[in-house]
Amino acid sequence: MRGLYADVIIDISHEAIDRTFQYAIPDDIAGRIQIGSQVNIPFGKGNNLRKGYVIGISDSTEYDESRIKSIDSLCEDGVAAPGRLLALAAWIKENYGSTMINAIQTVMPVKKTVKSVVVRYVVLSCEDVDTWEYRYMKKNARAKLRLLRELMVRHELPMTEATGTLNVSHQAVKAMEDEGVVRIVEDSRYRDVVSDAVRQQAFEAPDIELNSDQQRIVDDFVSDADQGIHRTYLLHGVTGSGKTEVYVRCIREVVRAGRQAIVLIPEIALTYQTLTYFSRYFGDRVTMVNSKLSSGEKYDQFERARKGDVDVVIGPRSALFTPFEKLGLIIIDEEHESSYKSDSPPKYHARETAIERARLEGASVILGSATPSVESYKRALAGEYRLWTMDSRVEGRTMAETSIVDLRDELHRGNRSIISDELANDIADRLSKREQIMLFINKRGYNSFVSCRSCGEAVKCPHCDVSMALHSGNNTQKGVLVCHYCGFRMPEPDKCPACGSKLIGGYGVGTEKVEQEVHRLFPEARTLRMDRDTTSKKNSHEQILESFGRGDADILIGTQMIVKGHDFSRVTLVGVLLADLTLFSGDYRAGERTFDLLTQAAGRAGRGDVPGKVVIQTYKPDNYAITAAASQDYRAFYDIEEAYRSLMRYPPEWNMMVIMGTGMDEEQLANIMDRMYSLIRGKYINAGHLSVIGPSEPAISKIKDVYRRVLYIKHRDYRMLVDVKDYVEEWLKENGENDVSVFFDLNPVNMY
Ligand code: ADP
Repeated sequence: MRGLYADVIIDISHEAIDRTFQYAIPDDIAGRIQIGSQVNIPFGKGNNLRKGYVIGISDSTEYDESRIKSIDSLCEDGVAAPGRLLALAAWIKENYGSTMINAIQTVMPVKKTVKSVVVRYVVLSCEDVDTWEYRYMKKNARAKLRLLRELMVRHELPMTEATGTLNVSHQAVKAMEDEGVVRIVEDSRYRDVVSDAVRQQAFEAPDIELNSDQQRIVDDFVSDADQGIHRTYLLHGVTGSGKTEVYVRCIREVVRAGRQAIVLIPEIALTYQTLTYFSRYFGDRVTMVNSKLSSGEKYDQFERARKGDVDVVIGPRSALFTPFEKLGLIIIDEEHESSYKSDSPPKYHARETAIERARLEGASVILGSATPSVESYKRALAGEYRLWTMDSRVEGRTMAETSIVDLRDELHRGNRSIISDELANDIADRLSKREQIMLFINKRGYNSFVSCRSCGEAVKCPHCDVSMALHSGNNTQKGVLVCHYCGFRMPEPDKCPACGSKLIGGYGVGTEKVEQEVHRLFPEARTLRMDRDTTSKKNSHEQILESFGRGDADILIGTQMIVKGHDFSRVTLVGVLLADLTLFSGDYRAGERTFDLLTQAAGRAGRGDVPGKVVIQTYKPDNYAITAAASQDYRAFYDIEEAYRSLMRYPPEWNMMVIMGTGMDEEQLANIMDRMYSLIRGKYINAGHLSVIGPSEPAISKIKDVYRRVLYIKHRDYRMLVDVKDYVEEWLKENGENDVSVFFDLNPVNMY
């Protein structure tokens, strides 16, 4: 009999071994090994056992059979990667640059099986109940009698209830089992991750009648589905136009046809709201996954999806890899959000990756946004995606009125508060009417940084090249400086560490400071604050939002997390305290990001019956991103932005790649980056308009004592950049240094 051979990717991320190794499959496990299986294999000189993934199986080998090693064993607790997702991993590796093992790990958010939760039940198992009841009565066995009587009504109950609420001892239950009165049975349960608050609201929604825009779109989707056409749709709908309802209806069609759907949301904070909405339609056939779940909870949700026990999974980026067997639709809500791009290698973009997964599995994709990314809109205009537009809010609700406040005037008039006179008047007005207010600032902490008025230096983290953020102390006057990159903390200094001057102090504003200012101006106002500091616990997002939704506070103050997607009908005023913070973030998407944030902020006002108002405070009232957002004119913004990007050779017209090298030895790093530069210039000198810039120091040139250097490569054609990446990867296998890591970022969304 001929043997079988497996192509195995070793579970070590290193360029030098980023290829398959062939192993013989021992007969005793041959029947259980499949593509995607995790196996233990002897590797290297010492033949130490390593884990690996089988990505191919064949019945012959090109190598000398006698020298091929054998697989040691199957990883008993390893989850097998579905073959389709392995194909997606290969695509990710190819298009974004990473080792194959990193790509495999990316498409497998859950790699290990986790024991299921076992629940024990007490079940009534005798016929002659009355006899036993009589016996227990006579013996005065009160506990047994309590349990028996409860079981006469309910037939079975959880063991915890018997020993808890009913207060029957374990021995007594066991004795009843010995007497043949009851049986103790074990049942495994999925860990439920949807809170009771959400489940209780399930199925409560009155059936909404679609308006004509929504109906036209759903009809279009159904008509494509009926013809077996799968494509990518871009749903451009203003805030409050009812996009979620469109998603729900399209998913319902998909589920009716026996297929499943993934709904991506840009951040965990939106889970509660989205889940609540979807639960009303899909009940317990919808669940969610995210990084805050325990490994057991996550494992169970993926298992439910794999077995088809749920139809819809909601979650941030990594939910894209939910192992549904019959995926029919992927929805990406707020598709323009930068959180859809992975921030660690492989730096894949969930939008592109979703479109590829859909292509591999014959599914459709709906991208939804009130402010589509320039990339997606351009493709939609070119006909690559089908464009669906919804220009008006549901039920004839008006868009919010917007007002731009020029902060320079405010200063001239002598108002030094971070709240302008106009905004203060509006807040007072809404408070008196018992309407709710949201105040938004794109920063967390108290003051953003501490700097010296004498020498102009900001206090920087000793390990990272960034200013440290000032957080105010609880009861003490002095605050703490925190590095948001490495977590390093130090007390706020009295003197400038650079020059010794005492003229040192905090600058900029953050959510905490806004809250203090609000309390100063409106002592009677009840406030809630939502930022990274107040939401680090598991359910803190939900709690703050629920509480605000209930009306426990008048004013919600927060960072961009409060801006995205939330739907509070009593909010009639939104204040953007400093629109410019995103404008000067120093990257080519600053305009787009500002426009998005302002539009989303405007979308939070007036979702109920009372019209809303947005006050945008800025030092740059004439900037096109701000004026277009104020007039809520996406097309005006897009036309300018697209022209600017083309002129400056930025995406989407052009493509760019960042090659980042990092290492502790600055000189060694500089040397390798210089050689890489020459290498690329040498090979691609004639590849029309390939520009190579660098090596240069990125905005943050050191993190945790590790130096960073970058090369920027631009070309019209994405494939050309992939070609450069492959070439550099190949070169690194021979010429790389152990102490220098290199990664690639194609079309980065954050600049370096
Ligand atoms: P968007 O995501 O476009 O900002 P949502 O989907 O959040 O808007 O919808 C806003 C609100 O309007 C939701 O409360 C939703 O239930 C409601 N809604 C959606 N469609 C309709 C409709 N056809 N008629 C009445 N209300 C609707």
